[in-house]
Amino acid sequence: MQQRPAEAGHGEPGPIPPGDVGLAPGTAPTDRPFSTAGTPESAWRDWRPGWAEFDLTNPPRGVVVVAPHPDDEVLGVGGLLVLLRSLGVTISVVAVTDGDASHPGSPTLSAAELARRRIAEQHAALVVLGLGDVEVHRAGLGDGRVAGHEETLAAQVEPLLTPDCWILTTYRHDRHPDHEATGRAAALAAGEAGSRLIEYPVWTWHWAVPDDPRVPWSRARTVPLPVAAQQAKRQAVECYRSQIAPLSDHPADTAVLTPEILARLLRPAETVFV
Ligand SMILES: [Zn+2]
Repeated sequence: MQQRPAEAGHGEPGPIPPGDVGLAPGTAPTDRPFSTAGTPESAWRDWRPGWAEFDLTNPPRGVVVVAPHPDDEVLGVGGLLVLLRSLGVTISVVAVTDGDASHPGSPTLSAAELARRRIAEQHAALVVLGLGDVEVHRAGLGDGRVAGHEETLAAQVEPLLTPDCWILTTYRHDRHPDHEATGRAAALAAGEAGSRLIEYPVWTWHWAVPDDPRVPWSRARTVPLPVAAQQAKRQAVECYRSQIAPLSDHPADTAVLTPEILARLLRPAETVFV
């Protein structure tokens, strides 16, 4: 997930209304994200868009999930990964960054310590999802600095792809620079390999609103999660203690994933853009 939305002005899907995101002037690109609470889950819950279900009747042989930060794979598609595994799909993960910039200025953990912590959390979360045996490819890009390295990332992802596999990645207009750059890189790799690209929104639930014309809802498909998958996802999120709980009482150590943010990401259904 990680610390800061994209800035307005990349053209699509439209500018963020002033004050919507709350990025302070001069804020470093790796600083944490939203000073506003965002669209409450209650607003999304009351919305009935009537999307079709994501079709899993002909699953691919393999799925590569590309996560800009450790936790995005769980927050975005943790439940879907459980379903895919139950269908016999081979899953692999590309960890784009190690998430070392979630707590800049922390007096508790250095960036290197944070990265080690988050890598361990990611492994624990995958174990909880029943995916402890999946291959995790660490791309080693800088947290907050994925943009500009799309071709480098695509070159690392493409060898993992085949024409009969799917690639799951963050939505290219999710308004977090790393999420968007990761989506662009995945699209590049998918295009080269002939793989099917499927995007998942994470921060979109924060800045968008129901029926938001800036979001391609016509591409949205819903993934209803069985109770067991919901529970596994919730437990996997619990593994990310560095993100859901404060590191200390210091202001730089506050939790990144607040209950309001988690409420949007722990719904009984996930959403993908096909
Ligand atoms: Zn992220």
